[in-house]
Amino acid sequence: MTHQDLLAVAQEFESPVYVYDAETIQKQYKKLTDAFKQVKKVKIHYAVKALSNISVLKVLNSLGSGLDTVSIQEVRLGLEAGVNPKDIIYTPNGVSLEELEIAAKLGVQINIDNLSILEQFGTKHPDIPVCIRINPHVMAGGNTNISVGHIDSKFGISIHQLPLMDRIVENTGMTVNGIHMHTGSDILDIDVFLYAAEILFETAKHFKNLEFIDFGSGFKVPYKKGDIQTDVSELGKKLSKRFNEFCKDYGKELTLAFEPGKFLVSEAGKFLVQVNVVKQTTSTVFAQVDSGFNHLIRPMLYGSQHEIENISNPKGKERFYSVVGYICETDTFANNRRISEIREGDILAFSNAGAYCFSMASNYNSRYRPAEVLWHQGKAHLIRKRETFEDIVGNQVVIEL
Ligand SMILES: *Cc1c(COP(=O)(O)O)cnc(C)c1O
Repeated sequence: MTHQDLLAVAQEFESPVYVYDAETIQKQYKKLTDAFKQVKKVKIHYAVKALSNISVLKVLNSLGSGLDTVSIQEVRLGLEAGVNPKDIIYTPNGVSLEELEIAAKLGVQINIDNLSILEQFGTKHPDIPVCIRINPHVMAGGNTNISVGHIDSKFGISIHQLPLMDRIVENTGMTVNGIHMHTGSDILDIDVFLYAAEILFETAKHFKNLEFIDFGSGFKVPYKKGDIQTDVSELGKKLSKRFNEFCKDYGKELTLAFEPGKFLVSEAGKFLVQVNVVKQTTSTVFAQVDSGFNHLIRPMLYGSQHEIENISNPKGKERFYSVVGYICETDTFANNRRISEIREGDILAFSNAGAYCFSMASNYNSRYRPAEVLWHQGKAHLIRKRETFEDIVGNQVVIEL
């Protein structure tokens, strides 16, 4: 998408607005599947929580992707998008047995991540095959909020509990058709990933009826110049080789599964905002925009750095700005950033706005959540309307006083 395309979107649908480029999603999907072409059966389950718009799910479905879901509502969004329930894996954390049963009834693959539910589910439904989420206790990623494989993590069943896992499976007569890990959303190091994979292969030998091994995700994408990104082609080469060897030992051609969110959609997204005020203080120049952490919380929540470009004045002289939102508490998108000269009314474009941006948006300060647009085959399609005051008051029950 060119600057002109983006400006046209901002003009037509107004700001703030999220725009997703379908072609970038397709490119990332292909990059990943190409990296694993040495493996006969590969299945990608896109992690819906990254960006859950139904039209985006349809794009991924059309590419052949399945879905990874973490709530029953995400399962239902996938079904709305026309995804076959067999291509949906349900990987919740700490949900009730009832919710798992609802998902099972919808025909999706269940992934269980604690022994208590494993035993209860296996006892009640020994005929429904399940996947088990293993915690290999491998530290991956620099951010403790998104690293989920460590010893204190609430995710998965510890590999040290393998004997009890075996016993439950045997006693209930249930079938384990897959094993899974997801070590965190920020893998820097391929060797760490391969080490965790070895632990998963060891664990896999315990189960005789496997159909797939799911290696989760954690692929890192660059946010700014010089950022390390996961070299998926190198990972593909190394892991494919090991996976094929393992299948030979196991005596069966298993499916290699992944469930990336960020990798598939992060770079496809741009967030467009308009500058309301340029405010000079004694220490900095603020560009105050018509949005805030209610729409894009990642900089405040994770300290993440989204590149910001002034697409209204891309050739302007560069100056330093702090880009801030309109929320009534500290609400900083970027500090001391070099951006081409900003004038009031200019449109700024945030990069990497596909993953965990709209899906984490809220109505804080009673603001409307933005519109979403899909750029598909050279055309802009509105895929979510901007909210209205009705959305703010619609569910409120006003009492007589
Ligand atoms: C969040 C999540 C993912 C996706 O992580 P990304 O870093 O976006 O690729 C995959 N699997 C599970 C179980 C998750 O919770």
